Amino acid sequence: MKSINFFIETIGCQMNVNDSEKMAEILSGKGCIQVKDVHQADIVIVNTCSVRFSAEHKAYSLLGRLKEQKENNPNLVIGVTGCMAEYAAKEIKARCKFVDFVLGAKKTDLFEETINRFLHTQSARLSVRPADDVFKYVTIMRGCSNFCSYCIVPHVRGPEISIDYNKILNEINTAVDNGIKEIILLGQNVNSYNYEGVNFTQLLQKISKTDKLNRIRFMTNHPKDFSDELIEEISNNKKICRHIHLPLQSGSNKILKAMNRKYTYEQYETLYNKIKNKIPDINITSDIIIGFPGETDDDFQATFDASRKLQFGGLFIFKYSPRPKTYAAKLKDRVPLEIIKKRHTALLEDSNIISKNINEKYLNKTVEVLVENIDNNVAQARNSQNIKIFFDCDENLKGRVVNVKINKVLPNSMSGILQQ
Ligand code: SF4
Repeated sequence: MKSINFFIETIGCQMNVNDSEKMAEILSGKGCIQVKDVHQADIVIVNTCSVRFSAEHKAYSLLGRLKEQKENNPNLVIGVTGCMAEYAAKEIKARCKFVDFVLGAKKTDLFEETINRFLHTQSARLSVRPADDVFKYVTIMRGCSNFCSYCIVPHVRGPEISIDYNKILNEINTAVDNGIKEIILLGQNVNSYNYEGVNFTQLLQKISKTDKLNRIRFMTNHPKDFSDELIEEISNNKKICRHIHLPLQSGSNKILKAMNRKYTYEQYETLYNKIKNKIPDINITSDIIIGFPGETDDDFQATFDASRKLQFGGLFIFKYSPRPKTYAAKLKDRVPLEIIKKRHTALLEDSNIISKNINEKYLNKTVEVLVENIDNNVAQARNSQNIKIFFDCDENLKGRVVNVKINKVLPNSMSGILQQ
């Protein structure tokens, strides 16, 4: 009997990666086989993102190609899920009549029920997906109530809801029993987690008690909610990785206010220094948005100066694009695209030099890494600071913690020699 193959294209953030994993688990649990080639699939899920215009464009391009595939195979089931499916369901259905179902981000709980309708018409061969991953994303919160003025997430994912910590602990225990070594906790603002009085620090303490779990990471943080108690916990808890992603977005107080970020640059800098002083081996990375409406040369200069002063381990720099439903989309004072591009290039070049300089401190030092993958005898691993490290190896070290002596550094990765 032929198996039912499925393919999931994930566009966007780790939250979507986690939702895709959940959909994959449901389909695998029903005996379907995940394939890497979309042409071999009987079911295709396009898990969309709407945070940036380019992500929407990517989804429509893929759907365009799938139309042809469906013409050749009318039994192909195509589903669209995620943020774009939430706010643009009507448009997707109108533009892509060949799509079988559209399930928005607020309705992910209905995925099993929805897919069952299609599976009932086909026969599935039962097989369980082997747990061969090293790390796993675990969603601890859904939605967001912060309403940063540029962001579509609160509009498409709804208000912030913390997930029952018992469910989270069960999910982690099962994953660890299946060989998972590292857990990455996900939420739009994990620092405001609160389920029946259990806050984020207390959740970390509960998770840390899981035997055989080597590492805990989390993202994303919001500077306004990052507590002293949490800094203390990270500093004392060796299972928590030495990496914090702390989005700044802008170095200009005028722009931060217009973004509704609810902190000033000075408050951010104070928090940043507090974390660095308490946890000296921490790597802090950040997000910046370039070209928010009204951003002048002086505002951009403030961001540029902040990047130089704070010396982030890595910077993710985004060009502002207006998103529907958001407050910022109504602002008139748009920055021309050529200026956005110029500022983007200037900051990117400078921040790459900073990251490379920071990584240079690792040269000729031996670091402990967790091996995530091996491809053609090259291992891809990660240190506690979340820096990717590559090294040659001819044995299967996947999932093992090993030592590597660093001999080359780049802005976003390093390579070295395995130490026996
Ligand atoms: S914190 Fe702000 S940027 Fe992050 S998801 Fe919520 S609204 Fe969007």
